[in-house]
Formats: sequence, structure tokens, C-alpha cells
Amino acid sequence: MSEPSLLFAPAGVALVSLVAGLFGLLFGSFLNVVIHRIPKMMQRESDNYVASESAQPLPHTDRYNLMLPRSACPQCGHQITALENIPVLSYLWLRGRCSQCKTPISARYPIIELVTGLLSAGVIWRFGSGWMGLSSLLFLYALIALTFIDLDTQLLPDDITLPLLWAGLLLNLNHTFVPLHEAVLGAAAGYLSLWAIYWLFKLATGKEGMGYGDFKLLAALGAWMGWTMLPIIILLSSLVGAVVGISLIVLRRHGRNQPIPFGPYLAGAGLIALMHGEQLAALSRQLFG
Ligand SMILES: [Zn+2]
Repeated sequence: MSEPSLLFAPAGVALVSLVAGLFGLLFGSFLNVVIHRIPKMMQRESDNYVASESAQPLPHTDRYNLMLPRSACPQCGHQITALENIPVLSYLWLRGRCSQCKTPISARYPIIELVTGLLSAGVIWRFGSGWMGLSSLLFLYALIALTFIDLDTQLLPDDITLPLLWAGLLLNLNHTFVPLHEAVLGAAAGYLSLWAIYWLFKLATGKEGMGYGDFKLLAALGAWMGWTMLPIIILLSSLVGAVVGISLIVLRRHGRNQPIPFGPYLAGAGLIALMHGEQLAALSRQLFG
């Protein structure tokens, strides 16, 4: 990966990172909507499809997308006002409760806003405010949405993984992160390597260790960072996955046979690889000769 390109002088990077952090807080608020609604939109589409195939009346005819209807309290239906929708601050000011019926609001909403804000600042600090930095923000937002959708539903929607894959290939047409041939090989090898692990695991144990969404996500990561980064991503995600998985089983929060989504670990490893891939590659060369 080349040096970060800057639209502003280096002294301005701190300021630009701060602006990116504030933007990230707002975008995190939108990501909360994406995470909540995309699985519901997919479910509605599939319900309608099944009904139309069997000539039944459509179960969902009202408008439901990322913009409509306006966000409301699920308990009392109170519409969230603009003042109640300020990232993090509104949550603190309302003390985590609906302003009308006082039903507690999940702390996950402000946490996602805060994490999106901090990571946005970190990405711009690392890559600057040029093409590389802006595209890395896109990468970050897709990974955050995928992480939480996978935690909620054990699904990684094609609506996010596939555009992420295309975006990586297109960006590398002019070598934004890696040469195009490394990106193309990365996409193919990313998909095939997890596909192969999936079948080996299935033949050996008769169980399914992950889903096709995981293959597509690793293909997307390969398209962004090239095939050379894939071993590091797989190693990192398996390490973190094993540590978290074993602790969950030890703490008895999780049954041994209950599936643990792999997407969040892949996403986390992908972000670490994007931010610190070169150092990790150098480290692995030292360790393994
Ligand atoms: Zn309410």
C-alpha cells in the first residue's frame, strides 16, 4: 500500500480527522437504521415473494425502506424528533429512555454511533482525506453494518457484501490499495479458501461451520487488499474467534453446538489488516522467515 494521499497539509490532518469523527457519529446513527431495517426489508421481500408465488394476497404492502417510516419508539409509537436523534448526546440527555413512555432504549445505539465516530477519525488519521481515506470510510461503514447484522441474524446480506466486493475491484483499477491483478486474485482466492475450509469441516464433522455470506465477505476483503493479505486476515479472525468462542463456552453463555457468527471476526480482522496490514506482513515475515 502506498503512502496516504493528502488534500490538506499534514498539520491539517488532526482537524480533518476531527471532522471525520463528527461525521462518523452522524453516520453511525444512520448505520443503526441500516442494521435494524435491512434484515426486516429482506424478510418482507421474501414473504411477499412466497405469497405471490402461491397467489396469496401480499402480507406487506406499506412502504418500508431506509428512509420510511420515520423512526419511532417500538413500545408507544412516539416518533423520534430531531432533538432526540442527536448521536450519543440525546441518549445521555434522555438517560437511555423513550421521552414519552420511559421504556429503556438499548445502549447499543449510542455505542455504535461512538464506535463509528472513533473509527472514522482513526481511518482518516491513517489514510488522510484523499481518495484512499474516503474509500476506507466506505469500507469501514460496510463492515460495521455487516458485523451487527450478522450478530443479530446470522446473515451477511448480499446487498452489502457484493457491492463491497465490486467497490474494491473498481477502486483498485487505478491501484488505490493494491494492483488490480492482486485484487482480482484476492476476490477469487478469498471466496475459494473459505469455501474449501467449509467443505473440509463439513466432511470431517458433518456440521456447517460458517455460511456462504462469510465466503463473499472474505472475497470482498481480498478485492480491497489483494490476495497477499488473505492468510493474515484468516489467521487473525480465527485467533480472535477461537478466543471469544472458547471464553463464551467456558462462561457457559453459549452451548458448544450453538453456531457463533464468523462475520464479525472476519470484519474485525479485515479492518485491522487495512489499517496495519504492512506491519503485520512484516511481522509474519520475521516470525516465519
Ligand atoms: Zn415510547
